[in-house]
Amino acid sequence: MLLTQNFPGTVLKNEIKGIQIIEDSDDSVLVKVGAGVVWHDLVIWSIENKLAGIENLSLIPGSVGAAPMQNIGAYGVELKSVFEKLEALEIDSLQSRFFNKEECQFGYRYSIFKGKLKGKFIITSVYIRLQKTPTFNVSYGAIETELKNMGIEKLSLQSVSQAVINIRQSKLPNPKEIGNSGSFFKNPVITSKLFLRLQETHPTIVGYTISETETKVAAGWLIDQAGWKGYRKGDAGIHKNQALVLVNYGNAKGEELVKLSKEVQASVFQKFGISLEPEVNII
Ligand SMILES: Cc1cc2nc3c(=O)[nH]c(=O)nc-3n(C[C@H](O)[C@H](O)[C@H](O)COP(=O)(O)OP(=O)(O)OC[C@H]3O[C@@H](n4cnc5c(N)ncnc54)[C@H](O)[C@@H]3O)c2cc1C
Repeated sequence: MLLTQNFPGTVLKNEIKGIQIIEDSDDSVLVKVGAGVVWHDLVIWSIENKLAGIENLSLIPGSVGAAPMQNIGAYGVELKSVFEKLEALEIDSLQSRFFNKEECQFGYRYSIFKGKLKGKFIITSVYIRLQKTPTFNVSYGAIETELKNMGIEKLSLQSVSQAVINIRQSKLPNPKEIGNSGSFFKNPVITSKLFLRLQETHPTIVGYTISETETKVAAGWLIDQAGWKGYRKGDAGIHKNQALVLVNYGNAKGEELVKLSKEVQASVFQKFGISLEPEVNII
């Protein structure tokens, strides 16, 4: 979230705790998690209990209740891959109801709670299914290289999680030290035809094929190429190691960061013809 003004309403901090196994079968368990549980505490719990599925999502800041809002994702895994259902309270009626995976309409950094149902429900608990036998997903990003650097020969939940933690700590600024919201923009999805055309003029462009016709482009690469990495004006800036992260060095106002984000969007559009969409909720 990026606040541009004092919020003219009531702010609730969800403190609903609890991690509970409610179904246990030969190969998986269904876990009910209170929305106020810290996401990374859940990841640690899953590893301690030898349950697989969320180890790649280690160290994402925030609560379990916020995780379905934008279908949190990292290193080739998204919440939706373990999600079973959630319970939420409708603010107008104060009635509780369940939403299954289909009803949440998960997409890339998206759910119905960011769309049609924005501001209408408070998520109170999330149900995820974790596996007793892991299927490791280490093909994304630098995980394999990091595992090699760590001298790991046999994969475990613990080692994959630690590799993700190491990579994140080396790349992302700690919000406790420098104000930031992680990736400011979503990685734009463009047609594969446009990607191939851009590749001719920019051979180092970074993209991931997501279907026969579409490619997801690394927004950080686009911003870096547009010359923004390490930029600073007053206390608002672009992180020196990760161009996708806007940072507040101290006293920048929310509006200054929004202004900077618009300048970044305009220059990326001018250079590549690609529109960047914020991932951050601007309030
Ligand atoms: C350094 C850094 C790295 C990050 N890396 C990643 C990453 O790798 N992948 C990724 O997906 N995200 C990432 N993020 C973004 C962030 O971690 C997620 O968006 C996270 O889910 C936010 O959790 P929160 O509890 O802080 O939610 P908040 O920021 O407090 O809230 C986010 C939105 O969800 C709503 N909300 C929160 N809880 C509830 C609830 N219980 N019911 C209804 N609405 C609710 C809020 O009103 C708000 O609109 C990163 C952020 C930072 C700072």
